Amino acid sequence: MIQEYTPLRVLISRLPHGGDLLESITTICTENEIHTASVKAIGALSSAVIGFYDQEAQQYITIELEGRWEVASLMGNVSIRDGQPFCHLHVTLADEKGNAKGGHLMKGCIIYAGEAVIEEFSGPELVREFDEETQLYLWK
Ligand code: ZN
Repeated sequence: MIQEYTPLRVLISRLPHGGDLLESITTICTENEIHTASVKAIGALSSAVIGFYDQEAQQYITIELEGRWEVASLMGNVSIRDGQPFCHLHVTLADEKGNAKGGHLMKGCIIYAGEAVIEEFSGPELVREFDEETQLYLWK
């Protein structure tokens, strides 16, 4: 599956101290009616929760990380799931020694500081549907 898009708006946002990282980015997309986009962010977290998709069990394992973290990298995309903007985001987090952890961004990452850049695209509606094989919501 390949679809072609062209760039539209670029939204740049300082994310709210104490806010949830996934919810904050999702709110920006919902309030600005962003249906298709690329997302990047950096910053710092006062707590972190990431996920790993267990391909055998076909469910996410939740990983709660103690302590404070740098968001060395966050990247992902926005598409439509159940009629709403849906953010699929991955993060690489670094600790005070520079050691990295990474995974699927889950609810529970609390922002200490954050800067996000959201690049919106124009083109065919990009919709997620349930995929039996992987038990994930994938682009149709
Ligand atoms: Zn993921």
